[in-house]
Amino acid sequence: MNELTHWINGKHVKGTSGRFSDVMNPATGEVQAKVPLATVAELDAAVAEAAKAQPAWGATNPQRRARVMMKFAALINEHMDELAELVSREHGKTLPDGRGDVQRGLEVIEVCMGAPHMLKGEYMNDGGPGIDLYAMRQPLGVVAGITPFNFPAMIPLWKMGPALASGNAMVLKPSERCPSTALRLAELLQEAGLPDGVLQVVNGDKEAVDAILDNDTVQAVGFVGSTPIAQYIYGRACSNGKRAQCFGGAKNHMIIMPDADMDKAADALVGAGFGAAGERCMAISVAVPVGEKTADALIERLVPRIEKLKVGPYTAGEDVDYGPVITSQAEQRIRGLIESGVKQGAELVVDGRGFKLQGYENGYFVGPSLFDRVTPEMDIYKEEIFGPVLSQVRAGSYEEALKLTMDNPYGNGTSIFTADGDTARDFANRVNVGMVGINFPIPVPLSYFSFGGWKKSAFGDLNQYGPDAFKFYTKTKTVTARWFSGIKEGGEFAFKAMD
Ligand code: NAD
Repeated sequence: MNELTHWINGKHVKGTSGRFSDVMNPATGEVQAKVPLATVAELDAAVAEAAKAQPAWGATNPQRRARVMMKFAALINEHMDELAELVSREHGKTLPDGRGDVQRGLEVIEVCMGAPHMLKGEYMNDGGPGIDLYAMRQPLGVVAGITPFNFPAMIPLWKMGPALASGNAMVLKPSERCPSTALRLAELLQEAGLPDGVLQVVNGDKEAVDAILDNDTVQAVGFVGSTPIAQYIYGRACSNGKRAQCFGGAKNHMIIMPDADMDKAADALVGAGFGAAGERCMAISVAVPVGEKTADALIERLVPRIEKLKVGPYTAGEDVDYGPVITSQAEQRIRGLIESGVKQGAELVVDGRGFKLQGYENGYFVGPSLFDRVTPEMDIYKEEIFGPVLSQVRAGSYEEALKLTMDNPYGNGTSIFTADGDTARDFANRVNVGMVGINFPIPVPLSYFSFGGWKKSAFGDLNQYGPDAFKFYTKTKTVTARWFSGIKEGGEFAFKAMD
């Protein structure tokens, strides 16, 4: 049995708690490794060591820190296939999707190469008579990242890149379901020149998370995961005086207008609804066609596309569309929700429940399911299913579709498919959701913008990555300065060497 470790002061360190969590192979249902679950004492010790390493790293000039990011990016590229395989092995997503997971994290590291520019601060000459003001951005000290299972490379990279490039030390607590990629990234960062102790990877569960939240040295917490945990972590971190940004779950709607290109909309929905088995916080889980004709045209196009999807393990080749879900509990929960949809009167147009894969009978596979005539009272509408299930809610008008999207408690991403610029513009202006796609199903902003939802999809201020992340991981110090005259009178004005 492969026993995983923590990464402390640049070395793999065995857990001492005696508690472990199984890391499953979701395609076979077999245990492939066990990951140690840290105690409060182990977490506190990792933080204390990070606090020793941080001052020298914080005092290293930003350009040198950026050079570590440059080397790190080169190493990630060099090890792309290996990292993607690590992601797929524990998460179950396909290899092309695993590479995408690494790539979207790498792009944030590329922005971190420009950290000196992000950290320049502000300056005003002559803010008053002979008075200059400048504001500098300084690292917070030791910060923490707590990440979910569904992007084992991307989200740890979103956390560590800006935090470290800003001069902080970070304690990262990856998901106990997919911990190996973060451990490998830590090794690559060391190879890139990051001093030992500046990044600690501590594996664990609620005990380690609570220890982070209660540790006085930890100055800030960047969390990504489900909404109830995001809200809990936000509350506890804030009441302990920490800066916190906690990104939660989602229920992303895509509106399809009657003038949309229906084939393109159907292609987009299938990719965004079923890619990564629907386990993306930016997955589209609700299609909202406007008008009965649009709804019928969409169903007609969706069904053959969904029935053609190839579901299988990542090892079965690059033409697999999606893999298993993460755990048997997730599989049972998804099946239970499909059952509830049928009972509550939705029309199950494609039923994925019977799906079985020869040789992988114990894997956590769920076939793709499509519901039509879903209504907002149904559990399949209210819950974040986080599985390969797409629900269609029929709307009578654009205003009704917009209201449905706006009344939903989540506000991570949304999308509109239309040929009309004015409708798209109106939608983008009015909708109360953080990331909007126009003829674009998964509008994850590029890394030099920033990522964040609204409503129950995010707690706290400032988004992840991009300029916001540099603000989150630094504090502002503003200096007001004046110099009394005196030196000019009687001073030496001849140009001579300083001595
Ligand atoms: P999760 O909330 O179960 O776990 C996230 C992290 O919190 C893990 O590191 C886990 O160990 C820890 N954790 C779990 N329960 C805890 C508890 N009771 N107390 C303290 N810590 C706890 O989420 P998940 O299942 O790993 O990830 C899927 C969820 O993440 C989905 O809801 C998805 O929408 C969301 N997500 C959101 C974003 C975003 O940016 N908004 C991105 C990716 C995923």
